Amino acid sequence: MKMNRRDAIKLGATGVIAAAAATTMSGCNKGEAKPAAQAKVCASGVKNILGKHQVVVIGGGFGGLTVASELKKHNENIDVVVIEKNDTFMSCPVSNTYLGKLEGMTLGKFIFDYAKPVEKYGYSMLKAEVVDIDREAKEVHTSQGIVQYDMLVLSPGIAYDYENQFPTWDKNKISHISRVAPGALIPGSEHIALERLLADMEDGNVIITVPAGKFRCPPAPFERACMIAAYMKKEDIRGKVIMLNPTNSIAKGAAFKEAWSELYGDMIEHIDFATIQDVDTDSKTVTYIHKVPTGEKDKDTGDAILKPIEKKISYEVLNLIPNNKANPVVSMADLEVTSDSFHKVLMNGCSFQTKTDADVYAVGDVVGHAIPPSGQTANWAGKQCAAEIAHRIAGKKFTLPVEKTPVPAGNVCYSMVGDDPEEGIMVTHDFSWTGTVIKGKGNVPKDPKTGKFRSTGTAKALHDWYRGITSDLFS
Ligand SMILES: Cc1cc2nc3c(=O)[nH]c(=O)nc-3n(C[C@H](O)[C@H](O)[C@H](O)COP(=O)(O)OP(=O)(O)OC[C@H]3O[C@@H](n4cnc5c(N)ncnc54)[C@H](O)[C@@H]3O)c2cc1C
Repeated sequence: MKMNRRDAIKLGATGVIAAAAATTMSGCNKGEAKPAAQAKVCASGVKNILGKHQVVVIGGGFGGLTVASELKKHNENIDVVVIEKNDTFMSCPVSNTYLGKLEGMTLGKFIFDYAKPVEKYGYSMLKAEVVDIDREAKEVHTSQGIVQYDMLVLSPGIAYDYENQFPTWDKNKISHISRVAPGALIPGSEHIALERLLADMEDGNVIITVPAGKFRCPPAPFERACMIAAYMKKEDIRGKVIMLNPTNSIAKGAAFKEAWSELYGDMIEHIDFATIQDVDTDSKTVTYIHKVPTGEKDKDTGDAILKPIEKKISYEVLNLIPNNKANPVVSMADLEVTSDSFHKVLMNGCSFQTKTDADVYAVGDVVGHAIPPSGQTANWAGKQCAAEIAHRIAGKKFTLPVEKTPVPAGNVCYSMVGDDPEEGIMVTHDFSWTGTVIKGKGNVPKDPKTGKFRSTGTAKALHDWYRGITSDLFS
């Protein structure tokens, strides 16, 4: 018989949980990867210039690592350095299964050592934080010194926009909230912090707040609700998973709703038009504005008229996922960006060169193409971007081959919705580039045999995909 957490506590086995926490933290903080920057980047002494490279890539995540290895595959003589601020790689994709404590999905499945691809492909890495970019001088300023470039690739991912979402919160409150109610949308230690909160929770509600506007991996909060509910069921923790969504939009909505109701009954509650206003961490209460239908319709548009009502809700664990914006590296580069609150980089037509500067490229979540922000997309884009740069270095022209458009399932994004048996759902996007930007067209398929969106086959495909993409980057 499997022992759940409640049983373990009854048996006085809390020491086991504490020991697990210690292992987790030391495994993460120790930084098992050799700091990449042992580096072929050498100190010159003058103006603290560390060195000059043909291609400098900012960000050792899904996009950046793909660009680096692919450039080396095109031509091993291309001199590439990746600048990354973290010691080790932490995968966001599939990390919700770690929160759900699915069998075998321990922290070790999500952390990878940068030293391996550095050695295999022969690119360099500098462990440093980028603090400024001088495009005129072609310099990247880092916490370690200045790195000069011929061509620059940006793949820095996202940042949280607490400041605009919560204008009354000062720096201390933002720092406190980000610690006690981690967003867990950015690689690093946030996922571990959230997992610890769940491991230590008493009976009560878990609240997940959905960001407004564009955000990384749009299905992630909804998949997380399934995985946390699966964990609570397994551990006999009594309570609900409640999502506060400022809109009524849910990525893969029909598929998630089917899984929520059929697998978790009323344990998962999605509240639409619910915008978080404030958090009181002493009373563990969230205040939100809920726009509820009045029963009347707008005379001109026919839309339902909504009335805002202030509500309070208590939580045991809060996963406050703040609104997202492009990582500040983008504004450091002073590039033209989209006018929305995310500020994606405007691109030079259907290419990965930026519109503003022919020597600066971008991939990953910051890209201004109409393609979904996913690890799979970042990997695809990284390959195209590397081909574009390698052709340029070889003095050849490169454009995405029109005869190959659309690319079927250029993006496949899986979400695990069930445990015991594991069941998954998926969305595919076909990519095309016949217009001025690269576009993705989505499809959420059903299992033809069962007529359901979720299936055990898709859960298996999720694991296969994850093994494939991480081995593409790390082995
Ligand atoms: C919970 C969750 C589940 C997801 N599931 C999936 C999935 O199933 N499938 C899928 O395809 N995608 C998924 N994604 C999305 C995927 O993680 C992102 O789309 C992908 O990581 C984007 O790649 P990127 O290179 O743009 O950014 P990242 O992978 O985040 O890499 C950016 C890197 O830049 C570094 N960096 C940032 N600023 C600096 C600086 N100033 N100096 C130095 N380094 C810096 C960061 O440390 C980071 O390593 C998921 C995301 C989340 C949060």
